[in-house]
Amino acid sequence: MSWEELIRTKEGYLRILDEVFSALPRSAKGAGDRVIVLNPEILHESRRTIVTNFKDLADKLNRDPSHIAKFIARESGRPSSIEGERLIIQGRLSMEELRKLLELYVREFVKCPICGGLDTKIVSERRLRFLVCEICGAKNPVRKL
Ligand SMILES: [Zn+2]
Repeated sequence: MSWEELIRTKEGYLRILDEVFSALPRSAKGAGDRVIVLNPEILHESRRTIVTNFKDLADKLNRDPSHIAKFIARESGRPSSIEGERLIIQGRLSMEELRKLLELYVREFVKCPICGGLDTKIVSERRLRFLVCEICGAKNPVRKL
């Protein structure tokens, strides 16, 4: 019987659900309830945007500040540099734009796509990068910035 035929009956449908769930890592259920609150603090100075608590944001995400800076530069098309604890972005970036960029970063490089957990790390293997989840153990490829 094909999956299409199987899914039409209640029994078959339940069997498929069973198979899907047993394929998930056991600890994935109910994991990932930690929340990270990101409150960027920004200043606009002449034609630059300065994120004054950039190091703190990176620490909260447990990521290298230069990785996040690279992402912001690439996605916004604006060059930036790290100076001490601050990120200096060329051009004006609104708080809303910055928040959106950080959200995108979290979605792609921090949040586990399987369990939604935020306790993850990026590991390099040969030329590839993977997001490894410390909660459910999932390992998913991520792009190299
Ligand atoms: Zn996970």
